[in-house]
Amino acid sequence: MNTKLDTNNDFDVIVIGAGFAGMYMLHRLRSLGLSVHTFEAGDGVGGTWYWNRYPGARCDGESIYYSYQFDDGLEQDWDWSERYAAQPEILSYANYVADRFDLRRDITFKTRAVAATFDDQSASWTIETDANQKIRSRFFILAVGCLSSINKPRIDGIDSFKGKIYYTGEWPHENIDFTGLDVGVIGTGSSAVQAIPKIAEQAKHLYVFQRTANYIVPSHNRPLEPDEIRWTKTHYKKLRAQARQTPTGNPFDLNNKAALDVSAQERMDEYEKRWQDGGLALFGAFKDLLLDERANQTAAEFVRSKIRNAVHDREVAELLCPNNVILCKRLCVDTGYFETYNRPNVSLVDVSEAPIDRLTQDGLTVDGKDYKLDVAVFATGFDAMTGSILKIDIRGSNGASLRDQWRNGPRAYLGIGVSSFPNLFMITGPGSPSVLTNMVATIEQHVEWIADCLDYMRNRNFSQITALDEAQECWVNHCNTLAHHTLKVSCNSWYVGSNVPGKPRVFMPYIGGMPAYTKKCEEVVAKDYEGFSFI
Ligand code: FAD
Ligand code: NAP
Repeated sequence: MNTKLDTNNDFDVIVIGAGFAGMYMLHRLRSLGLSVHTFEAGDGVGGTWYWNRYPGARCDGESIYYSYQFDDGLEQDWDWSERYAAQPEILSYANYVADRFDLRRDITFKTRAVAATFDDQSASWTIETDANQKIRSRFFILAVGCLSSINKPRIDGIDSFKGKIYYTGEWPHENIDFTGLDVGVIGTGSSAVQAIPKIAEQAKHLYVFQRTANYIVPSHNRPLEPDEIRWTKTHYKKLRAQARQTPTGNPFDLNNKAALDVSAQERMDEYEKRWQDGGLALFGAFKDLLLDERANQTAAEFVRSKIRNAVHDREVAELLCPNNVILCKRLCVDTGYFETYNRPNVSLVDVSEAPIDRLTQDGLTVDGKDYKLDVAVFATGFDAMTGSILKIDIRGSNGASLRDQWRNGPRAYLGIGVSSFPNLFMITGPGSPSVLTNMVATIEQHVEWIADCLDYMRNRNFSQITALDEAQECWVNHCNTLAHHTLKVSCNSWYVGSNVPGKPRVFMPYIGGMPAYTKKCEEVVAKDYEGFSFI
């Protein structure tokens, strides 16, 4: 039975978003006896896996780890069919979780939060939706996702195009058949890398418009065997605990050697072993790959040699070879991406020097050359980490505007709280390890920290919590210092916001790894929420 903290409010807590973060937050707070309601823009749960239905979409963290661990029964009852589950299976999982914990009764779908204002007098938030509702709650929790606000490039003539335009991040729910059509894919990031081989199987001709070549590793996806699933379930606790001890929350081991301290042969053997294992394991090949550019280039050259091996046409192969730092942008994981360029119906168009000029009625123009298209697929990514937060007009104590406070880049304490914004929490906000980790694991850590904090406040009759300015500045500086010790800041990427014109260039996630972050969060709690003030 829910007992509200304060009868003047409609709910104790409003959560925005019903992806993995919002779903677990709702469940966890409900089980504390708080009254909670969630608003979700989509008409179903699953977040990322609800919106990204493009062909080939699947996770690139292994399914058995890219799943909730908060409930033993759930973990034991759900069977993943593949090493890297495809989007429909992950969406089924999200729906299964929603059914199992009866989440939908507290979620309003097809409703977007557009504004939220904190009232200092009553210490409560008023949340406004695009359905003209105003709802009051003590706490306001943003579970809006790091990769949920689509980057739609403003290309001249886009409205004049007579063909179909699709964005990978808001793919239609019905099946799209590309048979007999000339298709253009704009972008060569993780989404494009998954979609391109699938679209190429159907399209009459596929043109891929590439601005920056990417480092891509094979997934070696495969079905999971019944014995493997049984074994995993028996050892789940230990496996998850081990994964949580790695910087990324993923299970692969990290080699403690430096790349240049070993022989060329040992280096090649290490890279080859990880390439054969598949997935993101290359990340852990040597400890200095993100610290030393010469070490980094040994891994980069290894991947380039694989590309040259896979692609028959020399010129195309060279265009596909990235020349920047490997692991600076997010590593992409593929199934048959490079081999796709050996197909006669696929052409790679370099738009690095001469950007896309315009869309016309009939297609796309690059450097004065026209490409006739029936369909344009934009796999152009997201306004990451801050996009969905700043779409909501959030006003904190004394009318402070979050958009103003973050004008030069986001500033948050632990990626969870923001000074001047009492009773506001973010799940995987800027300054949290979030996108550099297995996100479900990080989400669970955040959700449990926030729920414990609300329980702590309830037990002490506190009505307000606010991140302190000094603690926030200290954390932001710490995040920046760590990031600038690495090569992660050396290229243009969505981590630094450079994919969105006008976005301030700030490395947004915390790069210190999951164990260090979790330890810091635990220390903050042990010191009675050091860096936060309570009323
Ligand atoms: P989301 O899943 O993005 O959910 C946020 C929800 O909030 C959305 O449903 C959105 O509609 C809703 N919302 C946003 N703003 C509002 C508003 N104003 N009002 C109402 N509702 C709102 N991570 C990994 O760790 N491993 C992977 O393999 C992996 N694969 C990925 C593949 C793709 C294609 C993409 C795009 C991302 C992938 N990620 C992966 C990252 C992924 O986003 C996270 O793993 C995770 O799903 C995020 O969950 P979330 O609940 O935080 O956010
Ligand atoms: P992305 O990595 O940002 O890639 C976007 C692509 O579009 C880039 O190649 C970019 O080129 C290009 N682009 C953007 N604007 C352009 C323009 N105006 N003209 C030409 N090209 C343009 O986005 P994403 O592929 O959607 O992936 C985002 C993140 O989501 C990933 O890094 C990952 O974290 C997650 N994800 C994971 C998976 C998975 O395998 N599980 C799948 C999809 C997404 P530049 O590089 O030059 O900017």
